[in-house]
Amino acid sequence: MPEIADFVPIVGESVVADLRALAGRLRGRRILNVNSTAVGGGVAEILSRMLPLLHQLEVDAHWDVIKGNERFFHVTKKMHNALHGGSEPISGEEFAFFLETNRDNLQGMDLGADIVFIHDPQPIALVEKKDGGRWVWRCHIDFTSPQAGTWEFLKGYIERYDAAVFSAPAFSRPLAVRQVLIQPSIDPLSDKNRELDEEAVAGICDRFGLDRRRPIITQISRFDYLKDPLGVIRAYQLVKRHVDCQLVLAGGGATDDPEGAQVLEEVKGAAAEDPDIFVLFLPPASDVEINALQRASTIVLQKSLREGFGLTVSEALWKAKPVIASAVGGIPQQIAHKYSGILTHSIDGTAYWIKQLLQEPEFARKLGENGREHVRNNFLITRHIRDYLLLFLSLFTRGDVVYL
Ligand code: UDP
Repeated sequence: MPEIADFVPIVGESVVADLRALAGRLRGRRILNVNSTAVGGGVAEILSRMLPLLHQLEVDAHWDVIKGNERFFHVTKKMHNALHGGSEPISGEEFAFFLETNRDNLQGMDLGADIVFIHDPQPIALVEKKDGGRWVWRCHIDFTSPQAGTWEFLKGYIERYDAAVFSAPAFSRPLAVRQVLIQPSIDPLSDKNRELDEEAVAGICDRFGLDRRRPIITQISRFDYLKDPLGVIRAYQLVKRHVDCQLVLAGGGATDDPEGAQVLEEVKGAAAEDPDIFVLFLPPASDVEINALQRASTIVLQKSLREGFGLTVSEALWKAKPVIASAVGGIPQQIAHKYSGILTHSIDGTAYWIKQLLQEPEFARKLGENGREHVRNNFLITRHIRDYLLLFLSLFTRGDVVYL
């Protein structure tokens, strides 16, 4: 793990000094994070980087993961899809099972903390045991158009919290509790994002059979319909008629996402006849591989249909890569169109811009460079920790003023 001081050359002395000052004000407060998976997906990614840094700042932070069986994660994935605008309804029985699992978890968990920080819908009903501490619900998902029934169900729980945190202004909704905007972040010193030498990148590309002499277009994502991997293949096929290139679709699963295997099979089927499409199933802890694949890419895609934030966008921008991503959810916060990347709305648009950027490498390079600076200023873990510390402090103040 990096030392907190290692961030000084990247973000400057004053940012790190601020963190130390804010953390000092929280000394003695116990903070408990709860989510539904220890590996896979953005939430686990952030918590695994943030907790050790909080400890270095002497913040008494903890992380617990709720347990659930296959049925529970089937229901929560359905809820996830419904909150992302899906039409499949959740039955009363499914909501009841969801609550039963949350209540089962309450039996074995120690929720005695000054701040209980609950991530996403899966553990949301733990708030039934709220007693004393401040409770914050952290929403990492794209709330642009949630299905009404599931939203109403969740709302009843969200309003029992002291505050709700969203990743983009567009996700805020009429709620009786305080809402806070905090964007996620990446850790520039993690294995996924640190500098890698050319030898390491070349070695990993060789291992996967990639040809570095031809353009490489990449999307790193869990195999999830909402990441639109089949749309990515269609866009690549439109480009491939004109420009010789390769496509990499790389990702693994998350323990709270039961749909991954089915999506992977469909993607493999769609890619079967083209040896230039590389469908790579990555085991957990493939951070260096992801880092190398992003660095080896000519263009990085994130063609999501919905996206809470899309850490993979910041990860690629930090590597100064030109990124073409859908203008959905949290992504436009990371990309200003034609300045720090390209925003698209369709398969055709994605194909068009892949061709454009392959033909205009100087423009593509500039997009990546601007993107890297945008990430440095807005989406690094130091800014994220600062926002959380401020939020936590604000929970112990009266009125709107936080006294440092
Ligand atoms: N990721 C990973 N392994 C994979 C696929 C994704 O480590 O096989 C990482 C990816 O690099 C990023 C996070 O998981 O850090 C995904 O976060 P994002 O916000 O892009 O999407 P989510 O999976 O949370 O919907």
